[in-house]
Amino acid sequence: MEDCIFCKIVKGQEQSTIVYEDEHSLAFLDIHPLNLGHTLIIPKKHYPGMGEMPLDEVGRLFVSVAKVMQGVRRATKANGMNIGQSNGRAASQEVFHMHVHIIPRFDNDSQGGLTFPERKSMGPADREAIGKRIREAVETRG
Ligand code: ZN
Repeated sequence: MEDCIFCKIVKGQEQSTIVYEDEHSLAFLDIHPLNLGHTLIIPKKHYPGMGEMPLDEVGRLFVSVAKVMQGVRRATKANGMNIGQSNGRAASQEVFHMHVHIIPRFDNDSQGGLTFPERKSMGPADREAIGKRIREAVETRG
């Protein structure tokens, strides 16, 4: 999977703002976030989508999803959280390495919550600042 951008992030060959890492999973900021703190979490091993993953690995990944989600929520003081995961082009999957979106949501951040907010671009300094806050919030979880 030499051309896979997420495999490159796992190998450190592509820059990313990592907010959580364990033996099997890696979480980093989405570079075009829907909201501040929008995070992606992936299995380190390459699978195109959830359908290709052994079930025990799906379970392990989602334990990390919950852990990171709680950290993102505390770091951003979000009013709500979306967990999103797409499989296949028809489902709007764009990167074919299994990933889960962890998206902080705020009151009135879109049309009554019926749609998602517009994607935003963030500078490296802002990314590093929110990344640090999330890392600390995930690590200090009781
Ligand atoms: Zn990959």
